[in-house]
Amino acid sequence: MSSSKGSRARHDKSLQEELLAWFDRHRRAMPWRAAKGKTPDPYHVWLSEIMLQQTTVAAVGPYFIKFVSKWPTVKKLAATDLDDVLAAWAGLGYYARARNLHKCAQAVVRDFGGKFPSAVEDLIALPGIGPYTAAAVSSIAFNRPAVAVDGNVERVVSRFFAIEEPLPSSKEKIRAHASKLAADNPRPSDFTQAFMELGATVCSPKKPKCVSCPWQKSCAAHQSGIAEELPRRSKSAQKPVRYGRVFWIQNKSQEFLIEKRAGKGLYEGLYQLPTTDWTENAKAPEGHHHDARLRFKRLGADVRHSFTHFDLILEIWTAEAQKGFRPRKGKFVSAGDLENYALPSLMHKVVRMCLGRKTA
Ligand code: SF4
Repeated sequence: MSSSKGSRARHDKSLQEELLAWFDRHRRAMPWRAAKGKTPDPYHVWLSEIMLQQTTVAAVGPYFIKFVSKWPTVKKLAATDLDDVLAAWAGLGYYARARNLHKCAQAVVRDFGGKFPSAVEDLIALPGIGPYTAAAVSSIAFNRPAVAVDGNVERVVSRFFAIEEPLPSSKEKIRAHASKLAADNPRPSDFTQAFMELGATVCSPKKPKCVSCPWQKSCAAHQSGIAEELPRRSKSAQKPVRYGRVFWIQNKSQEFLIEKRAGKGLYEGLYQLPTTDWTENAKAPEGHHHDARLRFKRLGADVRHSFTHFDLILEIWTAEAQKGFRPRKGKFVSAGDLENYALPSLMHKVVRMCLGRKTA
């Protein structure tokens, strides 16, 4: 080994030691995290990683506890009905994750006898597990040397090396740097968690707390005073807007109509208030698929919701169902019944708006 390579390796070793020592002092207790020195449960690690995609640690906590108390093992989760999983997931959003969670549990039981595989190649072949989650589960649950690069790690690496190239084109460069920082470290499980934890708690998006950072002395962005400006991001194209109508049909018992969403795709298998299609035509589609005798009035406010690939504006139309009204599909429920149905947060928003105002 040349002397410069040798000093580089020594540098990386001391960075690893600094980060691990910092983690030993500052690791946060989380419901899915094994206590120091204990072996993590792969089911808990996998479940938390799926839940944490696009959701915060604070939001996931109660859901994780609910899931492991209802279904303490992956076998129990695999054996339950998808509808029960979706109902327990309601409010976490991105429901394809819940459907894949259920499929993945069944695949682990069917193909691996109910024990999660430890190799990245096997994990990545399972439903709902991409390269990041496979690396996270392999390293955190099985102490294997896989490098999991999430948004926190991307931020730390971008700053540590003062990478000016904007995301997403800098992703490969970031991954290569992250792999070098993690290479041959003695505690892969702790290192992966420490890397993410540093980004989540110290190297935060706004106002990074560099004075508390174990890597402060070697951090290029800190030295140049540009930490808060990084990572840079390419200007993304504006999201398209879709429009539609949603219908609040209430009966004399103050119950309202919900129905199971048909077809594949967004919100597949979840419950919703009846809606039209959502289109990019700014004039919301008209019509509803119930009874022509219903007299609809438009609620003063529309509901707005942002999805990953589009923003949605739904007009809310309300009507009172007269005695004898029989919906073609769906059922009337009360607000108190809703916890038994998997309703996406968009629909909960509509329900809150309708209950909070004079409707039909
Ligand atoms: S010194 Fe500051 S910018 Fe650099 S990694 Fe630490 S917290 Fe982030």
